Amino acid sequence: MALLVKKFGGSSVATPEKIFHLVDRVLAEKHEGDQIVIVVSAMGDTTDDLVTLAGRVSRHMPKREMDMLLATGEQVSIALLAAAFQERGQKAVSLTGPQAGIRTNDHHTKAGIVEVKADRVLAELEKGNIVVVAGFQGLDDEGDVTTLGRGGSDTTAVAVAAGTHADMCEIYTDVDGVYTADPRIVPGARKLQEITFGEMLELARLGAGVMQPRAVEYGEHAGVDIHVRSTFHEVEGTIIRREYTLQGEKEYVVRGVTSDVNVAKIAVRGVDDKPGVAFRIFDALAKVNVDVDMIVQSGSAVPNKNDMVFTCQKADMADAVAVLETLKAEMGFTRIDLEANVAKVSVVGAGMLGSPGIAAGMFGALASKQINLIVVSTSEISISCLIPRDQVEEAVNAVHDYFFPRTDK
Ligand code: ASP
Ligand code: MG
Repeated sequence: MALLVKKFGGSSVATPEKIFHLVDRVLAEKHEGDQIVIVVSAMGDTTDDLVTLAGRVSRHMPKREMDMLLATGEQVSIALLAAAFQERGQKAVSLTGPQAGIRTNDHHTKAGIVEVKADRVLAELEKGNIVVVAGFQGLDDEGDVTTLGRGGSDTTAVAVAAGTHADMCEIYTDVDGVYTADPRIVPGARKLQEITFGEMLELARLGAGVMQPRAVEYGEHAGVDIHVRSTFHEVEGTIIRREYTLQGEKEYVVRGVTSDVNVAKIAVRGVDDKPGVAFRIFDALAKVNVDVDMIVQSGSAVPNKNDMVFTCQKADMADAVAVLETLKAEMGFTRIDLEANVAKVSVVGAGMLGSPGIAAGMFGALASKQINLIVVSTSEISISCLIPRDQVEEAVNAVHDYFFPRTDK
């Protein structure tokens, strides 16, 4: 007997047939005495369609009204899902986010959950209901409906699991779990049985797109274990938790290899070698919201001059160059070089701090394929290398093969 929170995305409830498929699966897996809360998104592309609709009425849709509009999507799916359970003879009740006690701040269209008052949900479970909760929405202090930002139903599920002290929060997705690399790039990628919150967040930051990062942060903060598993196959997925519980999972220091092609490299050549120069450059970039990632400063061939190299998202490249152009005359640097044909390959693992040789292993794997390293950066739990864009797939495979040797050949 357990209290389980299960989250299903919009594609799982896109049609009445899919709704019944979901209902039958939940009932088949339910053990006697289990208490079940389902958190669900809007049907299919409903949210996208509502955003488009808003745009046809107002080019600057007021955010409060946008929330009022978008929240209707989930209200449709909860009503249909609860009714479908009842069709199968299972007691069920639907609750909107506000009814389920999801309290948020008032940052309309990207509100944060501040509290879950779970009494109503718990009372409905006690009455023998499956409780179907609308994802992605809540209520602010003024009594207005808010939404949590795109993909926010993951966060609702984790928050409801925390508020009800659930045994597990299960996120059903179209992948089987979290893999050591993207299986579309690395055919030999393995599914992880467990991963820690910190590693999952780092993987997401460095390019893996499995779960909404805010949901992972919430899980870490509230100590809710999250099971990421497949909507299509009844197999175990990956459990995101604070500590490993399985010995086998601890064997590999590196837990994942990711890549990101959405990066650009910018080099500012010939800046003066004196205090305050880096501050002026990066302060100006911050003021136009350019999110700078890797930074390297190195001496230049010219005495008393440096080169400042950094990476940012491709989308921010134009803003970054515009700002630097305005500084160029003032600060007297010689050139701004731009390189968009780059990619970032990273390895992530919480144990790497105490394990010498991880960086050497990664560099060796890349060298074996004649891949040149343009910039390298590290965090406590990751190492990233900027490389030529056209070698990214080869790089990810080489690094993955080194850290996860194939046993089948
Ligand atoms: N329906 C919302 C969206 O499409 C929330 C979600 O799916 O999690 O972003
Ligand atoms: Mg308000």
